[in-house]
Amino acid sequence: MNREIWTAVDDYFDGALVPPDAALDAALAASEEAGLPRIAVPPNQGKVLWFLARLQGARRILEVGTLGGYSTIWLARALPEDGRLITLEADSGHAAVARGNIEHAGLAKVVDVRLGPALETLPEIAAEGLGPFDMVFIDADKSAGADYFAWAVELSRPGTLIVVDNVVRRGEVVAPGNDDPDVLGVRRLADAVAADPRATGVALQTVGRKGHDGFLMALVEDA
Ligand code: SAM
Repeated sequence: MNREIWTAVDDYFDGALVPPDAALDAALAASEEAGLPRIAVPPNQGKVLWFLARLQGARRILEVGTLGGYSTIWLARALPEDGRLITLEADSGHAAVARGNIEHAGLAKVVDVRLGPALETLPEIAAEGLGPFDMVFIDADKSAGADYFAWAVELSRPGTLIVVDNVVRRGEVVAPGNDDPDVLGVRRLADAVAADPRATGVALQTVGRKGHDGFLMALVEDA
C-alpha cells in the first residue's frame, strides 16, 4: 500500500460522497493564493468533523489552529443559526485570510477568529465565560497539545468531544529515539489524556492523500 492508492481511494469516495463546494473550494484557492501552507484537513476529514459536530448536536465549538479557515467552515456549518464557533490563530496573515474565507462562506456572524498565541487567548476565553464548548478541535502546534487538552477540558461540560489532529505523524509517534518536539508533544498529550480521570480517549490512524496520520479523540465524562 502506498500514497498513490490511498489518494486514488480518497478520490473515488470523495467523488461520490463529498461533492465540490463553492465556498470550501474558494477558501482553499484563496489560501493557496495567499501562500498559506497546504496543511488544512483534507475534504473527507473536514466532513468527518462536520459529522462529529452534528452528532454532538454542537451549539458551541472551539477550534485551536485556524489557518485559512477550511476546517472552521466545515465545523461552523454544523451549527444551528444561533450557534457560535471561536477559532484561535497566532499568525495575523493566516487570520486575515481565514476571516475573508469565513465571510465569503456566509459564516461571519457565527465565527469569531481570535488572533494570538492560543495559550494567551484560551485564558481570555475562560475569563469571558464563553464556555462550556460542546466540541473542541485542536489543530495547532503539536508540541503544546497537552496544554491545549488541559484548556479544552477546563472549557468543557460532561459530554464534550475533543478532537486532536495529526497525532500519528507517519508513524513517527512510536519511532524509538525520535525527540522531535511535535512527536514529544503528541506523546505528552496521550499521557495527559490517559492520566486525566475526567476524560477517556482513543486514537485512530488514517491514510489518504495527505499520507499516514490520525486523530486522537477524548470524551469528557466529568468536567
Ligand atoms: N485547522 C486548519 C484546517 O484544517 O483548515 C489547519 C490548521 S494548521 C494545521 C495549524 C495552524 O495553527 C496554523 O495556521 C498556525 O499558524 C496555527 N498555530 C500554530 N501555533 C499556534 C499557537 N501557538 N496559537 C494559535 N495558533 C497557532
